[in-house]
Amino acid sequence: MADNDAPHLCIEKTTGNKTLPLSNLRPSRSGSGPPSLAVLHSTFWNPGTSIRVKFMSGGTPRVRQRVQYYAQQWEQYANIDFRFVADDDPDADIRISFEKDGSWSYLGTECWTIPKDEATMNYGWFDDNTSEQEFSRTTIHEFGHALGCVHEHQSPKALIDWDREAVYAAFVSPDGWSREDVDRNIFNRYTAAEVEESLFDINSIMMYFFPGRLVKSRVGSPVNYVLSVTDKAMITTIYPFQTHNSGAWSTLSDRLWYPPVALNARQIDFDPPYPSPPRVVVGLTSVDMYYGTNLRVKAYADNIAESKFRVHIDSWANTELYSGDATWVEAEDADADYQTGTFDTQGLHPWNQPQQKNSARIKFKNGYQDTPNVVVWLSGFDMAKGHNWRIAVSADGIDKDGFTIHLDSWADTVLYAAQASWIAYAKGKDGVASGADDTRNYRPWYPAQEKNGRKVDFKAGMYNRVPKVFAALNYFDFDSARNMRIKVSTPQVTADGFTWHGDTWGDSLCYGVGVSWIAFG
Ligand SMILES: [Zn+2]
Repeated sequence: MADNDAPHLCIEKTTGNKTLPLSNLRPSRSGSGPPSLAVLHSTFWNPGTSIRVKFMSGGTPRVRQRVQYYAQQWEQYANIDFRFVADDDPDADIRISFEKDGSWSYLGTECWTIPKDEATMNYGWFDDNTSEQEFSRTTIHEFGHALGCVHEHQSPKALIDWDREAVYAAFVSPDGWSREDVDRNIFNRYTAAEVEESLFDINSIMMYFFPGRLVKSRVGSPVNYVLSVTDKAMITTIYPFQTHNSGAWSTLSDRLWYPPVALNARQIDFDPPYPSPPRVVVGLTSVDMYYGTNLRVKAYADNIAESKFRVHIDSWANTELYSGDATWVEAEDADADYQTGTFDTQGLHPWNQPQQKNSARIKFKNGYQDTPNVVVWLSGFDMAKGHNWRIAVSADGIDKDGFTIHLDSWADTVLYAAQASWIAYAKGKDGVASGADDTRNYRPWYPAQEKNGRKVDFKAGMYNRVPKVFAALNYFDFDSARNMRIKVSTPQVTADGFTWHGDTWGDSLCYGVGVSWIAFG
C-alpha cells in the first residue's frame, strides 16, 4: 500500500497458530450504553495491575519519552499502571524494541509467553522527526493491544464491505503478506458467540485506517489519533477504578468573590458516563464569608444522572458568601464496597434550638466482614455571629455494622445546625488509604496562624505511583471578629505522601483547622 494514501498499519500479534483465537468475547455489560472496543477476554490483566514496561534497545530519548507519554493516556480511563522500568530490568512484562519491521504488539498478558529476551511490542517507524499525531495514533493503538484490545475491523460487529481483490492487491507482496496473511489480519473477524449487544466504532483508536478504494462503498475510514468516547467508556468497564472519579469546584471559577451570591451551582459532566447514576460524596474545602452575619453554608450534589450532576454551595438568609469550594468522590451505585451517606443535625433537633454536642449512630446498609475505615467530611454549618466559630466532625465506635458520627462545637459557639458526609470502605482495600489530621495534633490554638498543615506519610510501600488524594474540612476554630476565610488543599502529592494545607488570608484569625482525606491509587 502506497505511503501517500495510508498511514502505516499495525500487525496484531497473537501467540499460537495463524488462525484467530476463538475465545474473543466482548465483555458483557449490563445497563445502558452499547460500547464498542473489542477486547480479548483471555488476555486481560487484573484491574489495578502495575504492568512493567521497558525499552530493550534503540529509540532516542525523545522517542522513548513520547511513547511513555502516549502509553499513559490509557491510565486516565483504565485502572492500570504502566510502570516504565530500566532497560536492564529482568522482569519487564512489556518489552519494546524499535529495531524490527513494522509496529505491532502482542495482546494483553500474552506477553508472558514470550521469552524474556524478545520484544513484545515494536515501533518500526518512529524517529525524532515523527509528528505528535503519529506518536499518539500508533502508541495508543499498540498499548491498546497490550491491554487486550483487538482491531476494531475484526470485531464481530464490524460489517465492512471489503473490495477483496483490491485489498489483496494492496497488501500482498512477495516479501510481505500472503493472501492468507491478508485473510487473517483484514477479513477474519472474531467470533461473537457470547457477545453482548455492541456497536462497531469506526472512531476507535483500534480501527485500522483504510482508504475508500478498498471497500465497495468507496468510503474509507477516518484516521483516528486519540481514544474515542466509546474506547474510554469500554476500557473503564474492563479495568474499573476503585472509585470511578472525583473532582473539585470553586465558585471563584464561575464568578468573582465580590459581590457575595447566595446560591451557587455548576453542572459537572461525568466522562465517561456511568451505567446508572453514581453516588456523589461532597465535602467543603473552602469558604470566604462576612463576619457581620450568621455563617450559613451548605455544599451538596443533586440532579445526579448517568452523565452529569449539579454541585451546589449555598448560603441563605442574610449571610454573605463571597466564595466556597467543594470536593467530591464518586462511587458507582453498584459498588457495595463503598457505603456512603450524609448526616444533618436537624435530624436531632431543629436549627432554632442550637446544641453544641450532636451525635448519632449510623448503620451501614450492608454490614462489613471486618471493621471498615470511615472518612467524614464537613459539608455545611449554621453558626451565630459574635461568638468564635468552632466545629469538628469525627467518627468513632466503628464496627462491622456502623459507627457514631459527632458534629460538635465547644466554648461559647452557638451551633444551630451542621451537615457531614461520609464514606466507608473495607480495610485493606487495594490502593485505598485515608486519615485525618488537624492543628490540635501539633500546635496550641493560640496564637492564630495564617498557614497551617503538615506532611502525611502513606504506609511504606502503599503506592508505587502518585495516588489521587481528596481532602476536605473536618475541623476549624476561627475568630468571629474577622471574616471567615479558610481553604484546605493538598497541592503536592507523591507516592510517599502529601502535605495538607489549611490556610487563611486577609485579617482572618485561624486558631485551628483540620482535614479528613482519602487516597486512591
Ligand atoms: Zn494494531
